[in-house]
Amino acid sequence: MQEFPRLYVGGEWVEPSSSERIDIVNAATEQVMGQVPAGGAADVDRAVAAARAACADWAATPLTERLAALGRIGEGIMARNDELAQAVVGEVGTPSMIAPMLQTGLAAVVFGDNATLAPTIEMEATVGGTLTVKEPIGVVAAITPWNFPLVQIAVKVAPALAMGCTVIVKPSEYAPLTAFMLAEIVDEAGLPPGVFNLVSGDGATAGESLVAHRDVDMVSFTGSTATGRRISSVAASTVKKVTLELGGKSPLIVLEGAPLADAVAAAVQGCYINCGQMCTASTRLLVPEAQLGEAAATAAAIAESLAVGDPAAPETVIGPLVNARQRDRVRDYIRSGIEEGATLVTGGVEPPDGLDTGYFVRPTVFSDVTMEMRIAREEIFGPVLAIIGYSDTDDAVRIANDSDYGLAAMVFGEPDEAMAVARKLRAGWLVINGADQSFTAPYGGYKQSGLGKELGVAGLEEYLEQKAIHV
Ligand code: NAD
Repeated sequence: MQEFPRLYVGGEWVEPSSSERIDIVNAATEQVMGQVPAGGAADVDRAVAAARAACADWAATPLTERLAALGRIGEGIMARNDELAQAVVGEVGTPSMIAPMLQTGLAAVVFGDNATLAPTIEMEATVGGTLTVKEPIGVVAAITPWNFPLVQIAVKVAPALAMGCTVIVKPSEYAPLTAFMLAEIVDEAGLPPGVFNLVSGDGATAGESLVAHRDVDMVSFTGSTATGRRISSVAASTVKKVTLELGGKSPLIVLEGAPLADAVAAAVQGCYINCGQMCTASTRLLVPEAQLGEAAATAAAIAESLAVGDPAAPETVIGPLVNARQRDRVRDYIRSGIEEGATLVTGGVEPPDGLDTGYFVRPTVFSDVTMEMRIAREEIFGPVLAIIGYSDTDDAVRIANDSDYGLAAMVFGEPDEAMAVARKLRAGWLVINGADQSFTAPYGGYKQSGLGKELGVAGLEEYLEQKAIHV
């Protein structure tokens, strides 16, 4: 059991305002593995006051000192990487094969990247006779989801602290353990009191109190599009800045003549990583109509070969989903795909053999999917791949863009042709022929996938205001 009975506010561990607690459940065993406070409005008030009190001094702290603090936090994460990864293996169900790199090591990389990029930002310039000055935006509320619990916090906290803002983190109520361990790391890193604060709790109380708070200058949110809409409307009453990283339904287009087996393997991997609980998951595989059968058979063979089971076991590739609600939601989508006439190639609504305990879902592949079906339009957030046929390249682009979302897209094909297609896609994160992805590039969605950017210089600049001084 990992129990964190207190909240981190103003540089100390403080008693929460109520004795209410949230149980954290292991996704594979369904056993309670931890407990954190269910913070509420009074806790938020206290944390915001601490963040506000620390604001001016932190903004005036030399950049080199702020970045040295980022460095210490990154080192602290690496020193506890195994322990952090284990917590995520338990609470999220991410296989231990990838968790230390993708779930926790990447958080340390994010702190390092922000420290490297921050000095490249020009804070002052003269335009005509006018001095333009960039300043930290102030008190930032960072509200994060459960699927990459530590990384999602890092991509907000690192740039906010680098730019001289103070933060209150409100982690997901389903996977808050690494946030508490991060608070311990921050405490050891010796940041001034109030620069980093942590209030756990659910969205409707702790989350919404932060969003509505008059003394919060900015909300940086990652989560579902439905919650993003709600946050935008609540934040509007105090006209504060909101950045939103929301859902996706990302296409992977296999162009005519591209190596089909390689592209399908990339699609399956991109769709099933973290059991499909990844916002950029390649959930729609677009192939030339004549290759639908071959693509479906290849995808099914790969899906059936993957080891599904205990995420703590070293050989496991696919673990459970995060909780019962998510498992039931994903199974409902599988049911809807069958009812709406898609061809179920492998997988289905039954639990995988021998895995009745834990929130497991069979890796599933549908073919003959059309854009009218819910499995083609809605974010499922589980291991469900939808294969869609297209007639020519224009049709592929049309289908890819026929979505309310626009987070990511992948293209396989001859490089010039793939680049031409990538330029036509309405999405923020494009990957050609499985290229390595740089986490110093700006990341953020088009359309209902979000507003604003994270990572890179653009991600840092979100935490700045700009004033013009006419002299
Ligand atoms: P969610 O929207 O249910 O919750 C996210 C966070 O918002 C949690 O901390 C929750 O407590 C809080 N919250 C909920 N209601 C709130 C309210 N009214 N006011 C303030 N805060 C509130 O999302 P989730 O289920 O935790 O995460 C999955 C979703 O996150 C998926 O849709 C996924 O696509 C998205 N996601 C997006 C990205 C991205 O970068 N675009 C990255 C990861 C996850």
